[in-house]
Amino acid sequence: MSLSILYRGVLSSCNYDCPYCPFAKRKDTRATMATDKQQVERFVQFVQQQKDIEFKLFFTPWGEGLIRKHYQQALVDLSKMPNVQKVAIQTNLSCALGWLQKANKDKIALWATYHPGQVSRRAFLDKCKQLDALGVMYSVGIVGFKETIEEIELMRTLLPQERYLWVNALKKQADYYSKAERERLVAVDPYVPYNMVYHKSEGKACRTGHTVISVDGDGNIYRCHFIKEKLGNIYEGALNTILKPRLCTNTTCGCHIGYVHMNDLNLYDVYKGRELERVAE
Ligand code: SF4
Ligand code: SF4
Repeated sequence: MSLSILYRGVLSSCNYDCPYCPFAKRKDTRATMATDKQQVERFVQFVQQQKDIEFKLFFTPWGEGLIRKHYQQALVDLSKMPNVQKVAIQTNLSCALGWLQKANKDKIALWATYHPGQVSRRAFLDKCKQLDALGVMYSVGIVGFKETIEEIELMRTLLPQERYLWVNALKKQADYYSKAERERLVAVDPYVPYNMVYHKSEGKACRTGHTVISVDGDGNIYRCHFIKEKLGNIYEGALNTILKPRLCTNTTCGCHIGYVHMNDLNLYDVYKGRELERVAE
């Protein structure tokens, strides 16, 4: 059996200060960090024990996890397990990268977001170069504020041509982008139109709850991060009694980490097994 798990624990803090983010410069208490560490370690142990499941794992923390040693260690350990096909994490790429030397680099992938204003272009690109030298797979992404489009275009010219650069579109305000701005973003990221809309999802087939699940620090299972109906707990029951094909019960789905799993959109054909870390060709 193959299963993708999106893991999000109790950590909700970040070393960056993005003005639009609820986790900006937020600090977790020592107790919360200790709980997070213990829960991540338990999750790693769980994966190790499920010898008959082939996992694709994706850490999607609120805030920044990769500056914490226990996330680095989890990625290293998971990358070496024979039943783990892939382990990925969302990160602002601010951490030192030497720890990756200890990992099985063929199985690690990073969803790296560049936050202009929080880090210099040069420093971010230097981290990308280090990942290239290490041979670690990653995508680079940027939030598509209108005022950032020029920076996005510049970043496109500075990254190696084969490195996919995705854009997270602003879509709460209808017609946020002019036609020209939209075209500029599409020229950078041919798949950004998928991110510019809320996909009508109610009643449509979505792989979550079947071959993809979301798990929290306590092991509670949800089909995805956006539907908070608990399906079970990975530490309590057999997974195969829970997993089955399901239709979406939300009206729409607007995040890559959700809609990429909708059957109708055929995005697995675009990402070719790298849908979690958002790497396209
Ligand atoms: S890096 Fe990410 S988590 Fe941290 S403040 Fe910025 S948007 Fe929020
Ligand atoms: S379409 Fe989105 S909201 Fe609906 S089940 Fe799939 S991931 Fe969840």
